[in-house]
Amino acid sequence: MRFSQHIIKTTKEAPSGEQSKNAELLIRAGYIDKTMAGVFTLLPLGLKVLNNITRIIREEMETLGAEEVLMPALQPKEFWDATGRWETMDVLYRVHSPDGSHEFGLGPTHEEVVTPLVKRFLLSYRDLPRSIFQIQTKFRFEPRAKSGILRGREFMMKDLYSFHTTEEDLLSYYERAAEAYFRVYERVGLSALKVRASGGAFSDFSHEFQVIADCGEDLIFYCDRACGFAENKEVATVAEGDVCPTCSAGTILSSKAVEVGNIFPLYNKFTEAFDVSVKNQEGEDVRVLMGCYGIGCTRLLGTVVEVMADEKGLVWPDSIAPYQIHLVQLGSDEAVSAMAEDVYLQLRTKGVSVLFDDRADVKAGEKFADADLMGIPRRVVISSKTVGAASVEVKHRATGETALVPVQQFLDAPYV
Ligand code: ATP
Ligand code: MG
Repeated sequence: MRFSQHIIKTTKEAPSGEQSKNAELLIRAGYIDKTMAGVFTLLPLGLKVLNNITRIIREEMETLGAEEVLMPALQPKEFWDATGRWETMDVLYRVHSPDGSHEFGLGPTHEEVVTPLVKRFLLSYRDLPRSIFQIQTKFRFEPRAKSGILRGREFMMKDLYSFHTTEEDLLSYYERAAEAYFRVYERVGLSALKVRASGGAFSDFSHEFQVIADCGEDLIFYCDRACGFAENKEVATVAEGDVCPTCSAGTILSSKAVEVGNIFPLYNKFTEAFDVSVKNQEGEDVRVLMGCYGIGCTRLLGTVVEVMADEKGLVWPDSIAPYQIHLVQLGSDEAVSAMAEDVYLQLRTKGVSVLFDDRADVKAGEKFADADLMGIPRRVVISSKTVGAASVEVKHRATGETALVPVQQFLDAPYV
């Protein structure tokens, strides 16, 4: 992509009224635009990052054996009446048809749709276990939408639902789902803790995946020896400074954290409400047991920003970066232009993803500031100085490490 053809511009000014670091940086760097509180457009760069995140999530869900579906956001009120949540769910957008004859919920989550859906397909114990997931827009009227894309009123979530005949099967799947979640977080460059949390109105308990960060809205207690003990304050049995009850060696620390995922063993909570059962081997009806598993895809994007950004701007890990290389041409004399165009073309031919700052009327300082702000992993400069040395200057965004690399060597191994 040529910067000169790119629809988006960076800005020096922080948007007024935006308090969160993630939204401030993403808006300034041209990744997102704020439509209103809690509602954002993903611009070309932001969408590329989100697509990389959802690709990783998809791969891990498929490895887990789940099949992808796409359920509707517009949901009949009757489904919400069946679970009683039409009356009780405070974040649910309730909308009606133009003639006022019908009411709908705008999906904040999909238990009310997925449970009657699977009822039509799960008939006998031979049909179980099964699991389906989707990556889809959710709507929640969040009372406080002040955390940028960490808390949207419209946001992207991956939600997975699993169905089982026995508790043992449900719980073993639940553990495998947790392992898949850890792989997702690791691949997007985050270190998450699996934290015991309340099950809300859903179940006795749940597990949240929490990333330690100052901007987080949760408070968690966890073992400093990384033995795996971690609890959300809302269900905590320990206090800061206690000896860890699990390993007896570590000390309990506390921290603010961002909830980037939540998994619930729902048991029969929704299958009761929709009367979902299957025939067992003896031909008797048994209640289907269920689990649900969510990851906030856009929140994950915002969390990477919060955790990795530095004073100059965004910093992306390779796995989710919008481009791998930010090629910067300095000056427009013939030799420089020729080499920059040639390198750009050769990288494209090799299938390397590259943003080419070919803007003619922009000074070096501004190009460098933009590269730092946008956070693409490798900045590659071509100037009269590098042309003289038949080289390019490669600078790693995360470490600041810089090297002059002979052009051919760079083209042979551009990701080094
Ligand atoms: P929170 O406690 O932060 O309000 P939640 O517990 O209500 O979140 P869940 O219903 O567990 O959220 O949703 C699954 C996942 O979706 C969460 O773990 C989080 O990563 C993400 N998520 C929830 N609400 C939002 C939101 N308003 N904006 C962006 N992501 C969200
Ligand atoms: Mg949650």
